[in-house]
Amino acid sequence: MKTLSESNKNRLLNSIRNIPDYPKPGILFKDISTLLNDHTAFSLLIDHLCDYYQDQKIDFVAGIESRGFIFGAILAYKLNAGFVPIRKPGKLPSQTYQSEYALEYGTDTLEIHQDAFRDIKSAKVLVTDDLIATGGTAQAALKLIEKAGGQCIGACFAIALHTLPGYQALSKLTSVYSALDG
Ligand code: AMP
Repeated sequence: MKTLSESNKNRLLNSIRNIPDYPKPGILFKDISTLLNDHTAFSLLIDHLCDYYQDQKIDFVAGIESRGFIFGAILAYKLNAGFVPIRKPGKLPSQTYQSEYALEYGTDTLEIHQDAFRDIKSAKVLVTDDLIATGGTAQAALKLIEKAGGQCIGACFAIALHTLPGYQALSKLTSVYSALDG
């Protein structure tokens, strides 16, 4: 199932709950917890993403904290790849690289273990998160993957908010795929 039918897309979109004005006024929050607790929707999405990346010989899936861990760990298992967490500051216990990125107000930082990709030269890495909006988080993750010696071969999301420029901007840096458009 490399492409999702319109009815499957609608099935998945309808399983995501939209929460207006969360966490602050003006934001329409895409709550994927209602997709995760719907076992048919959850397996439909995971099976589709696995089929999409099946032939790409991925060495590692890097998941962005925290919702990227949910999809990332399952994808890694199913694609016979290792899983690498990209985490908020101070959470990873060994030596890390850091990347700072802009938020609407202020900045945030992500970290990766320096030895995350073991001794594999130019390891093929797929980065994943639940959603791409401005793309700042994903771009910071890409920088970290490169710093740690990996080669980011793609970025994958359950849903992309196309009202924001993140998807387009990230597409200039790597191959981007989102199962759903929001
Ligand atoms: P961005 O860096 O702007 O692309 O934001 C992506 C990160 O913020 C992801 O980890 C998302 O889980 C979260 N996020 C941003 N906007 C939303 C939204 N409208 N609904 C749910 N999560 C969001």
